[in-house]
Amino acid sequence: MAGPSIVWFRDDLRLADNPALRAAIDRGEPIIALYVLDEESPGVRALGGAARWWLHHSLASLDTRLRERGAPLVLRRGPAERVVRDLVTDAAAGAVFWNRRYGGPERDLDAALKAGLRDEGVEVASFAGSLLFEPWTVKTGAGTHFSVFTPFWRACLALPSPRAPLPEPRVLDGVRRGAASDSLDDWGLLPREPDWAGGLRERWEPGEPAARRRLREFLEQDLAAYDRARDEPAAGATSLLSPRLRWGEVSPHTVWHETVEAGHGGRFLSELGWREFAWHTLFHFPELATKNLRPEFDAFPWPRLRPSHLEAWQRGRTGVPLVDAGMRELWTTGYMHNRVRMVAASFLIKNLLIDWRRGEEWFWDTLVDADGASNPFNWQWVAGSGADAAPYFRIFNPELQAKKFDADGHYVREWAPDALGDDAPEPLVDLAASRTAALDAYEHVKRAA
Ligand code: FAD
Repeated sequence: MAGPSIVWFRDDLRLADNPALRAAIDRGEPIIALYVLDEESPGVRALGGAARWWLHHSLASLDTRLRERGAPLVLRRGPAERVVRDLVTDAAAGAVFWNRRYGGPERDLDAALKAGLRDEGVEVASFAGSLLFEPWTVKTGAGTHFSVFTPFWRACLALPSPRAPLPEPRVLDGVRRGAASDSLDDWGLLPREPDWAGGLRERWEPGEPAARRRLREFLEQDLAAYDRARDEPAAGATSLLSPRLRWGEVSPHTVWHETVEAGHGGRFLSELGWREFAWHTLFHFPELATKNLRPEFDAFPWPRLRPSHLEAWQRGRTGVPLVDAGMRELWTTGYMHNRVRMVAASFLIKNLLIDWRRGEEWFWDTLVDADGASNPFNWQWVAGSGADAAPYFRIFNPELQAKKFDADGHYVREWAPDALGDDAPEPLVDLAASRTAALDAYEHVKRAA
């Protein structure tokens, strides 16, 4: 069937190494680039505030780049299945291409759409663009999926290497009479009254060109120190690629190949491995954000929520310097260093005895890199209920963590200077006593195992 090709952009807001876009170019018909803001399909999780901010700017950047090449971005809002089908009809499109997603509701939606369009004679094809290894290709000897990271990553590395990235197209053949598009500003993705995004604007530049620049800069300037300094929040030694990977402004394939060429990237590549592991875990356990992966944790006796404790944690007012510094970095910039994420999460779950799901929801709303797999996966990892998780009884001591990883106090001084010195507030809870209470509560899980 002739007719234009629709490229449906989702978590892949880039032109380079975009297999769906490449397929549309190869098909040879005019191209319609589409993004759908879907807040209505059942089960698809509504984006958090920081994510919406990033999305706005990343879409603006993608539109500029597509427009320069001849195929501006068409924005539509609504349940994705209906929106895509309507556009196929209106534009008399002959084909729809997309890169795959791995969350449960998204997969159901995509499968239904694919089947429906094919029944009507429309060509539909999906591609691997967001993960290095497809979840169904990585299996144990017994044919099951992995629940421990080290053998998982070993099995990935034994597979054929991730394909080389595809080049960025220079020109695109857009449709002559463009399809109607919403205006990005009308989507209201940016915060107003209050505009809390000042710190985000200061820290980040969303969009594909900035993502590629950051990757090059990291490989040239920071990779050599990565293994040594990656755990120190003040060292600036990590890649800051997480939001760029989250939104697909750069593909994991590009990161992989450029890192291999730069050399000495084994440790860094294994972090990409954790990203893969999180997504594979979500693929096999779609309820990762709401249900304990290990069901014995359902027996954990969470005490009644004390809203004032949750709020103190959210605002960085717990009186524990490293936790408060991290939570304020998050609130201000939409990002927190990984070591501090672990410590702040552990404090919420194991010192304040607040259900990990409350913390996951807060991170979901405030992180620019919040994604449907890595966020719940890591929360469950800290809680002890997840895949290859830290054992519950290993409770981070935030004071020792600060001594070890922020020895000269740079990080805490930057984000929570009031947490140091003689006038520093008392911790919300006694660290030793709350630790004991957590271990007592954990006995219920042990009995249920
Ligand atoms: P680098 O150290 O440079 O790592 C390179 C890339 O590897 C990252 O960009 C990321 O894509 C991936 N990566 C590294 N560590 C992990 C990990 N533990 N799990 C999954 N991928 C990883 N990461 C997210 O991308 N989104 C989230 O929503 C998220 N939520 C988290 C919640 C908690 C409670 C914790 C403890 C960690 C969470 N992480 C999340 C993982 C990790 O903290 C971030 O990926 C990392 O801090 C991003 O900084 P970076 O890009 O400089 O990392």
